[in-house]
Formats: sequence, structure tokens, C-alpha cells
Amino acid sequence: MAIQVHNLSERPSLLNSMLAEIRDVGIQGDPLRFRRNIERIGEIIAMEISQVLPYRERVVTTPLGSMQCPVLDEQPVLATILRAGLPMHQGLLNYFDRADNAFISAYRKHEGDEETFEVEIEYLASPDLSGRTVILCDPMLATGSSMVLAWKALLARGEPAHVHVTSIISSRQGVECLLDNMPDNTTLWVAAIDPELNSRAYIVHGLGDAGDLCYGVKE
Ligand code: URA
Repeated sequence: MAIQVHNLSERPSLLNSMLAEIRDVGIQGDPLRFRRNIERIGEIIAMEISQVLPYRERVVTTPLGSMQCPVLDEQPVLATILRAGLPMHQGLLNYFDRADNAFISAYRKHEGDEETFEVEIEYLASPDLSGRTVILCDPMLATGSSMVLAWKALLARGEPAHVHVTSIISSRQGVECLLDNMPDNTTLWVAAIDPELNSRAYIVHGLGDAGDLCYGVKE
């Protein structure tokens, strides 16, 4: 069975206005607003993913009596890729508020020019993932190689029951890469799919460098 892909901007919602703001060069330069929009989109995606997770009944005592309430059966593990993933991760964590968390560092190691690079993973902090539901987020899914490498690095901490991979803007190539390289127990949630990558593997039209827009230009 092929992995399922959900493109959330295909339905009209406020999500599309937030996407327009993070893409807009006249608005994205305000880092507080940019980070908060990324976080808010993370919150919306958390709500979408929450609709396919299992629930159990719990007896809740209100001031007027007892009632059965459906509650999330088990909190997921939220995993992200440093540094651009942090505000989206926070958005997911605002909703999955008792989740365990995993962090992975991945960076583009350039070989001489700007256009040739390999993705290097250097740091991993993760709980045991055996049998868990993992939500792995990175706001920009460009070639897809960072996401797949991050996933492979996480497997050193156990085999999850299911992985929900999520990004805000994905390229078509990034989606194809995940379809080719992720296991069947993967679901992909994206807010938008853009048509192409430029020669430096940035998404077009995309929004530019999400990490720089959140945290400032790096050396
Ligand atoms: N990372 C970004 O921040 N932007 C892109 O377009 C691709 C990767």
C-alpha cells in the first residue's frame, strides 16, 4: 500500500491566509510574525493529524456528575530537524501537550560551490520509539533527503508503529522522494505542494530560507 498524502491547502481555510503571509516578502521579514505563523500552521496540522489517531473513553468527574469522555489514547513522539523545525515543532507541541520529543540536526555540507551539497546528520536526542506513533516535522520539504536521513537516524532508537511526516511547503520532488523512500506505515501531511526546485535546491515559489527567516542569516 502506497503512503497517503494529504495536501491541506486544497480545502479553503485560514491556513491559506497564513501560507500567503509566510510567502509574502512584504510580511515575512517580521521574524516574530513569521515564527508565529509557522507555529500556528503547526497547530492546524496537529488538529488534522489528531483526527486519525486512536481515542479511548475516560470517566471525567464534572461538578455535576460523571461522564465518559473520549481522550487521546497515547501521546505521539514529536520529532524535528534543527533549526528551522523549531517553531513548527512548538505548534505541534502546543496541541500534543504531553508528547515526548526528539531532535535531530541536519545541515547542507557544501562541496565547493553553492549547488553541490550532501546532508549531514550530527546530533540525535530521542526517546525509545519502538511501537510509538511519531510525528516528524520540517517546514520545508525540498529534495526530501534531509527528511529521509532524519528518519533513518531515528530508527536507531526503535521501530515506530506509524510515522506522520509533515511539512508546510513541499516540492513535488520532495513528495516523490518520500513516496520512494519511506515505509508503507507513513502518512504525509503538507500545507502546500510547489512545482519545482531551483539550482540551489530551494523550493519555487516557496518562501526563501525558513531557518534564516526565523532566526537570522547564518554564516
Ligand atoms: N529549506 C528552506 O528553508 N527553503 C527551501 O526552499 C528549501 C529548503
